[in-house]
Amino acid sequence: MDFMLTEDQKALQKKAREFAINEVLPVASKYDESEEFPLPVIRKAWEEKLLNLGIPKKYGGPGYGLLESCIVVEEISSACPGIATSLFDNNLGAEPIIIGGNEEQKQRILSELINEFKLIAFATSEPGMGSDIAGMQCKAEKDGDEYILNGNKFWITNGGVADYITVFATIDPEQKHKGIAAFIVDTKSDGVKLGKHIPKLGQRASNTVSVGLNNVRIPKENVLAKPGRGFVVAMQTFSHTRPAIGAFATGCARSAMEYSIDYAQKREAFGRQIGSFQVIQEKIANMYKDIEAARLLTYKAAWEADQGMDNNLSSAIAKAFASDVAMNVTTEAIQIFGGYGYLRTQPVEKLFRDAKLYQIYEGTSEIQRIVISRFVMKRYEHAMPFLGKKRS
Ligand SMILES: Cc1cc2nc3c(=O)[nH]c(=O)nc-3n(C[C@H](O)[C@H](O)[C@H](O)COP(=O)(O)OP(=O)(O)OC[C@H]3O[C@@H](n4cnc5c(N)ncnc54)[C@H](O)[C@@H]3O)c2cc1C
Repeated sequence: MDFMLTEDQKALQKKAREFAINEVLPVASKYDESEEFPLPVIRKAWEEKLLNLGIPKKYGGPGYGLLESCIVVEEISSACPGIATSLFDNNLGAEPIIIGGNEEQKQRILSELINEFKLIAFATSEPGMGSDIAGMQCKAEKDGDEYILNGNKFWITNGGVADYITVFATIDPEQKHKGIAAFIVDTKSDGVKLGKHIPKLGQRASNTVSVGLNNVRIPKENVLAKPGRGFVVAMQTFSHTRPAIGAFATGCARSAMEYSIDYAQKREAFGRQIGSFQVIQEKIANMYKDIEAARLLTYKAAWEADQGMDNNLSSAIAKAFASDVAMNVTTEAIQIFGGYGYLRTQPVEKLFRDAKLYQIYEGTSEIQRIVISRFVMKRYEHAMPFLGKKRS
């Protein structure tokens, strides 16, 4: 077991940190206020090869493992969680192609994402469902070798600016997960209607829209996964992207902690630095220990994916734990700042709003706990003898 980053990983972390400090941090509050999509920052990230981190070398990408992606996104998120979400969304949109695409699709789309500045989004959610993916209603009707899509997708990150969207739709809602197929949708296709940006509590720099699909014809070459297989591809995608949410949350919490340490050492009350009060020290100690644990769980989930292991459980643990850490740490950061923490002009106020999303998107904290409890109740192997008779 080795907890050290390699020299290459440290160099990548340094590059991402410099990008975060020089390119993201100075504009974070501007994009939060305006709710505009941070196009110049995302383009610069593409130029600096910090976009499309998981695209294999075979298709011209950097071929980083998920661990390297987590190292990068922790840095970007520490400067602005909303911009980090926008930046990583290409990984989310491309992952179904990496997992489930055929060779021609990989050559065509993945190489295009590397060679040109193109954005790709991901769409399972709909106005009427998010957690219950098998309950989706967006319809995919087979027409020869092609499909025709009809329905509405909702909450689609980067949807308003994307060139492509990997869309999941069902041939028959009654068939639940067995009916779900996946498609590569060119957003310029006839019948695709991208909605207006939906205003949000936090992560306002990330673009969030509805996507209407009205008789959108999908050519044979853009059918990504057949009915049934689409559900598997979506689940495998989440296992590969949930650790990154753990890394986002870790970066967000880390910055809230750093601002808190700084403030606690400057602010005085009752003639003393507030950082000299044990109750404030305890808050900061808890922040640090929880952030360390969040990062380790995140790295473990990413490492398992990179080893080709099934990381469904570890990615659920990492996402659930790190999301709660981000929410708790940002809440305590506001407390340490006192009244100033509640002001719109303070960065901890923004981080607190931004953190909430981690407990919601890519599977809510409740859904992660369902994944964990299913394992613990059904498959976990006890080390100690049972009390009395073993249950059947
Ligand atoms: C800013 C933002 C960006 C997003 N980006 C994308 C995107 O790019 N692509 C995409 O496809 N989706 C995206 N989403 C959608 C997101 O994944 C869903 O919002 C999320 O999965 C929850 O679904 P829902 O909102 O429909 O809540 P619901 O599923 O309706 O859940 C409501 C509440 O009930 C709980 N709940 C539901 N089922 C259970 C259960 N079985 N047991 C216990 N509790 C349960 C939930 O945890 C939650 O607390 C985004 C959402 C947001 C807010």
